[in-house]
Amino acid sequence: MPSFVITEKCDGCKALDKTACQYVCPNDLMVLNKDSMKAYNQEPEMCWECYSCVKICPVQAIEVRGYADFVPMGATVTPMRSTDAIMWTVKFRNGMLKRFKFPIRTTEEGKAVPSGGYATAHDNLNDCILAQEPEALKLDKMYTLK
Ligand code: SF4
Ligand code: SF4
Repeated sequence: MPSFVITEKCDGCKALDKTACQYVCPNDLMVLNKDSMKAYNQEPEMCWECYSCVKICPVQAIEVRGYADFVPMGATVTPMRSTDAIMWTVKFRNGMLKRFKFPIRTTEEGKAVPSGGYATAHDNLNDCILAQEPEALKLDKMYTLK
């Protein structure tokens, strides 16, 4: 089920050029209605419930109605992002609440090395050796069936 915007809470990211939810959606689904200054999911059926917009919205104006197999009717799953962690609040149908806190990054923003420091050059695209092998496996070479 897709994300949806709680319009009473959305402030259009205070009229910034590109809103936080527009910026973060990997599928370019979130748009801002410039008249009402409220965001909305323009193509809900294309939403894959990645929760990125939910996590980034500064005023917690976006929610995802999760599929019934992990969020039965009446239950909610809500992430709350801080600078270094996300607090997930899970509300069960019977009202029970559980909270889980997870760190969101161990490397300062913009400092991550995409390849993890391993060489990424790979001359032969026709063999079965993957990028970063054999170094990432701490082998001197890959052993394959002849
Ligand atoms: Fe509205 Fe939140 Fe989207 Fe900003 S990130 S436009 S406040 S829904
Ligand atoms: Fe886009 Fe993910 Fe939000 Fe769906 S849940 S609108 S895919 S950011």
